[in-house]
Amino acid sequence: MDEIAADPSHPRYASLLMRHRLEVAQAKGMLADSAMIAHGRGEAFDYLLGEVTTPSAHKATRHALACMMEGRRTVLSVNGNVAALATDEMLTLADALDCPLEVNIFYRTPERMEAILGHISERNEALGLDVTVLGHAPNASIPGLKGPRASCHKEGILDSDVILVPLEDGDRCRALLEMGKTVIVIDLNPLSRSAQEGTITIVDELSRALTNMVGLLKRGENVVVDSKYNNEATLKAALEWMLNSLKQV
Ligand code: ATP
Repeated sequence: MDEIAADPSHPRYASLLMRHRLEVAQAKGMLADSAMIAHGRGEAFDYLLGEVTTPSAHKATRHALACMMEGRRTVLSVNGNVAALATDEMLTLADALDCPLEVNIFYRTPERMEAILGHISERNEALGLDVTVLGHAPNASIPGLKGPRASCHKEGILDSDVILVPLEDGDRCRALLEMGKTVIVIDLNPLSRSAQEGTITIVDELSRALTNMVGLLKRGENVVVDSKYNNEATLKAALEWMLNSLKQV
């Protein structure tokens, strides 16, 4: 799945690999028309981060992971780009947390849902996992959203108390917050509405952030809820990191 022409020693290897994953997903019909644009916006911010997980992102990651571990009903939400870029990491995290994944896409069509669910199911089997994957039969709606984008599972997103929403659209992020959930956002853009409004925002590249979480769990590290966590400070630290990287040019 991950065979690309570039050598792993290429300075942009990780970025090329992510682009390749998107190309594969596009060929499978998993992506919305605007998927590449959303990815490009993320790439630009990652360039400014220096393609590393910053200390403040590490801190937010640990706090977010602790909240997911403590959640009564934690759910990991998956859209087309997330499925394209990090299905294995999302499945591995869900398995370690013993929680479901729910496919929840903005531009919902039966064809895209089928393509994404099919891809996740293939990877679930290939990894030898048995993660519960929802999204196939929505039986509830997220209040405050209109149309198919509101559709969700009652036993999944609707009744969750902690939800991970990587690369989420601002409207849906707000609707989930208004339901009283702890909303954990992963977004490279500290200025996006989701990043600004999320309960906890990890300003990091999706696959890096998920790999960090899985690593913390695998190493059995002691991650605890940070009662002093301040999301505004996290966003400010990300922006300062980017500004400093510009000053060094
Ligand atoms: P909002 O609606 O929250 O104001 P937006 O219009 O930018 O933001 P979308 O286009 O729905 O939101 O989501 C794409 C977001 O995902 C962008 O903010 C982009 O920076 C981010 N993004 C794209 N690729 C990645 C990635 N691989 N890792 C982390 N974030 C990413």
